Amino acid sequence: MRHTPGGGRRVVRGMFARPMPNDEIAVMVESFTNQLAAAVERSVARRVQTVVAQAIGVSVKRGPGRPPKNGGALIAAVAPAVVRPRKKPPLQLCPVPGCKNAAAPVFGMVCAQHKGVPKAKIKQYREQRRNAKDKAARKAA
Ligand SMILES: [Zn+2]
Repeated sequence: MRHTPGGGRRVVRGMFARPMPNDEIAVMVESFTNQLAAAVERSVARRVQTVVAQAIGVSVKRGPGRPPKNGGALIAAVAPAVVRPRKKPPLQLCPVPGCKNAAAPVFGMVCAQHKGVPKAKIKQYREQRRNAKDKAARKAA
């Protein structure tokens, strides 16, 4: 017995007492797609809710009785404090006079060349440098 294409579906189903595998997959894909779409929708809705709640929470904390003119600007003002990358410490130079090398913490904040210099001397150099800096600052002021 042969069934004609298109019209024989019902007959095949009856014969095997279960839907064609392709139908099963199609149903699974459809239901999965629906679930996925619903999940994405929920997720987006939740995220929007969170952002809105945060914006309201910040504005309530920030300005009692005076709503901000621009909520976006407020968020932008708050965000950089959180997102800002770690600031690099300023380069410190070796305190030995005339030395232009960078100081390294492993050498006790002097350069590799002067790591053998006694601490007392380094301390003296540091004081000299600080005094010179103070003088320069006073001059500039
Ligand atoms: Zn040095």
